[in-house]
Amino acid sequence: MADKQKQVVLRLEQVSKSFAKVETDGVTHALNRINLQMESGEFISLVGPSGCGKSTILRLVAGLIGPTTGKVTVDGQEIGGPSPQRGMVFQKPTLFPWLTVEKNIAFSLKIQGKLQKNQEKIDRMLRVIGLEAFRNDYPGQLSGGMAQRVALARSLINQPEILLLDEPLGALDAFTRMNMQDEILSMWRERRQLAVMVTHDVDEAIYMGTRVIVMDANPGRVVADLAIDREHAGDRSSPQFVEYRNHILNRLHFAGNHV
Ligand code: ADP
Ligand code: MG
Repeated sequence: MADKQKQVVLRLEQVSKSFAKVETDGVTHALNRINLQMESGEFISLVGPSGCGKSTILRLVAGLIGPTTGKVTVDGQEIGGPSPQRGMVFQKPTLFPWLTVEKNIAFSLKIQGKLQKNQEKIDRMLRVIGLEAFRNDYPGQLSGGMAQRVALARSLINQPEILLLDEPLGALDAFTRMNMQDEILSMWRERRQLAVMVTHDVDEAIYMGTRVIVMDANPGRVVADLAIDREHAGDRSSPQFVEYRNHILNRLHFAGNHV
């Protein structure tokens, strides 16, 4: 591709996020003093039990919510709101049902007035996700895997500096899921932007990540931060992979014992 990916550094500094519990007058400490630094070229897998604040981290980075205390910055600039530079893909593909596949992918370019000069990009994206033949179909006509590919393409077409994936493959059957893992990886390899993916599947976290961050709940916090050697992690049966898996499962299990 002609234009180079902009390199960015994302930082969470002493980030806490609390929510009022409506039923009990109490407070949920969704995140407690999180410190993390992530950079372009990394593929971060976030794992942890339900309620440990994984989605909250993504929503903070997306700029959909702000921290209660602490700072979330990109290249030192505090995040003030959503931006196409930080693209989010949800577990359930959130496509516009009244727009075709092509128009869903082109949507953000259209509202930015950039449609004319980017038709080539749209065609290319349709090829990359293997849905050229479906460009005029509506989301309701697609399988779950196809719809998720469209949702991915819709984010990727903006060439976001940061790609946020919230259990993007959670709704797919095991076979489609493995194919999609490879597809996401090959799209990511092309630009090496910063990707942050939430998953509850430990194998998926290792298989895809350059780094696995393990979290625990009450309060939401980081309990392990593990660099993954990509050379060994591509083979799910390698001794190194099994070692990573044991390490992470231990962390998750051990972390759950003392609550
Ligand atoms: P995860 O994605 O790891 O399952 P979340 O980040 O969604 O966890 O949530 C962390 C905690 O914060 C949970 O206890 C959840 O109930 C609470 N929470 C998240 N968003 C809100 C909200 N908008 N209002 C109240 N509580 C919330
Ligand atoms: Mg979540």
